[in-house]
Amino acid sequence: MRIFTVLLCIAFIFSCTTPEKSQPTIMKKDTHSYSNVDQVRIEHIHLDLRVDFQSKILKGYADLTINNFGNADSIILDTYGLNFKKIIYEDKHGAKYTLGEFDEVHGAPLAIKLKPDTKKIRIHYATSDKAAGLQWLNPEITLGKKHPFLLSQSQAILARTWLPCQDTPGIKFTYSAKITVPKELMAVMSAENPTEKNAEGVYEFNMPQAIPSYLMAIAVGDIEYAKIGDNSGVYAEPGMLDRAVYELADMPAMIKAAENLYGPYLWGQYDVIILPPSFPFGGMENPRLTFATPTIIAGDRSLVALIAHELAHSWSGNLVTNSTWDDFWLNEGFTVYFESRIMEEVYGADYSTMLTLLGQQDLEKTVEKIHAGKHPEDSKLILDLDGRNPDDGMTDIAYEKGRFFLKACENAVGRETWDAFLKQYFKEHAFGSMTTENFVEYINEHLIKGDQELAEKIMLDDWIYKQGLPSNFPKIQSNELDKVKEHIADFTSGKGAQSIDTANYTTHHWLYFLRNLPEELSPAQMQDLDNTFGFTNTGNSEILCEWFKKSVDNDYQPAFANMEAFLINVGRRKFLSPIYTKLARTPSGLELARNIFDQAKDGYHSVSRNSIQEILYPETEG
Ligand SMILES: [Zn+2]
Repeated sequence: MRIFTVLLCIAFIFSCTTPEKSQPTIMKKDTHSYSNVDQVRIEHIHLDLRVDFQSKILKGYADLTINNFGNADSIILDTYGLNFKKIIYEDKHGAKYTLGEFDEVHGAPLAIKLKPDTKKIRIHYATSDKAAGLQWLNPEITLGKKHPFLLSQSQAILARTWLPCQDTPGIKFTYSAKITVPKELMAVMSAENPTEKNAEGVYEFNMPQAIPSYLMAIAVGDIEYAKIGDNSGVYAEPGMLDRAVYELADMPAMIKAAENLYGPYLWGQYDVIILPPSFPFGGMENPRLTFATPTIIAGDRSLVALIAHELAHSWSGNLVTNSTWDDFWLNEGFTVYFESRIMEEVYGADYSTMLTLLGQQDLEKTVEKIHAGKHPEDSKLILDLDGRNPDDGMTDIAYEKGRFFLKACENAVGRETWDAFLKQYFKEHAFGSMTTENFVEYINEHLIKGDQELAEKIMLDDWIYKQGLPSNFPKIQSNELDKVKEHIADFTSGKGAQSIDTANYTTHHWLYFLRNLPEELSPAQMQDLDNTFGFTNTGNSEILCEWFKKSVDNDYQPAFANMEAFLINVGRRKFLSPIYTKLARTPSGLELARNIFDQAKDGYHSVSRNSIQEILYPETEG
């Protein structure tokens, strides 16, 4: 690795361009990108795009400012379904380019000839109906039902479906944009954002901090902004704005807690946009502007851990980025750990311990499922996703096994030492990318420091390079959830649901209660639970999802109409996958699931649609 660094430095000295800033050295090849980032890199992208809701395309040009430190004769970009009109150099002369063979997962490499002095290229292009990174919502599936909505989801490798770029998390660039939208709508991006609509429908953006391509983001719709704290606020459709402001009131406290833990927030503004319900994820940590599902708006601030999570990404992921998708745990594992620390600061240890224990249950199920599947090696923290869709690596292994590894480190060295280490880690690697190998080197050098006893306590290799859960897996004990265990025992021993004292229950008590009931319940027990606690009609999406799973297990028909409406209305994969999976276990359930999917799929994002397709039609997979 050192040798490579030296060679790069020599290349810098002899190339005729002086780099404005040093780029991180790429330590290993990203198998999910065609780009030749070891020779030439994008430093800045300027987009000038028109958002056309009629034809559902983005059209315009991208100006790429490049740093050809390796004197490459062409730059290879990642593209997916983009249509190119022309590509020109700064002197307006046409550039020669070739588009390689198209692959369903990776798209097609675009190779553009470079002249020795080329610093800028303008690519005139339009997106197509292959743009899986964009979701065009018809007015009917927005809250207001009057205007269409556009939202993007670039992670993991979908940025290439809406802009030509080096689509790897291993390099970073700044960007700016001019976006033209229908006059009654507003555009926002992962950048410095407007807070009001303008009469022309033209919005200019600047993103002064360098980001990886998967954090490129855009949303366009009938949205308004409300300020919440000094440097935070929320965008939402007008009918959702007041509820969103209420729900996210603790955001300034979360930012403060995060800064106290691991250093200053370096992105200026922190806003959230509440999207229409078809958004496939809980949230996406687009810098300066977290994209969030409306399913976190529960009315009682009980699901805001998601905001703590996305905020934590402002350090883990957005500042220090996984170099390839095989290193995804460096992003999500650190973030879940950090999220739990923010939750502890703002809501107390009892509260965050409940979340941790629920996470442990999720993880145990995931490990079991992975070990029974085609890729048992996916239960290692470091992945090998070569030849597969990086989406396959987005499991609880990265999130929860990653988090518990960090927790194990904390247990081994004590919180004070661990926090100092993490703070320093974020500081030293801010705005860079990190491989698992780099991290191992760093923790060995700065935390373990050759201490054999400590190394045995931490069990680094077992966590990172071995399948399953190591023997030093942290023990989590929650007094709150122990109480729930007793309530479950009471209920299953024949005491009615009314005998349970749920006065102090939070969402997390309810989730634990539902998840840990016996799989089989009698019709009378289901009815008793529903009559007493009103599960079928709750507005809390997390509780609904658990209840619907229970209802499918026990064929509890009174919940089915609401379940169907939920599956059609909500596009969040985390809720859809488990319910559809349960339904698909019986022939009648599968038939019902396929019927619901037929009605719902046009409203789903492709990410969710593909996952459900695989559950309901496994024979067509691959
Ligand atoms: Zn995350």
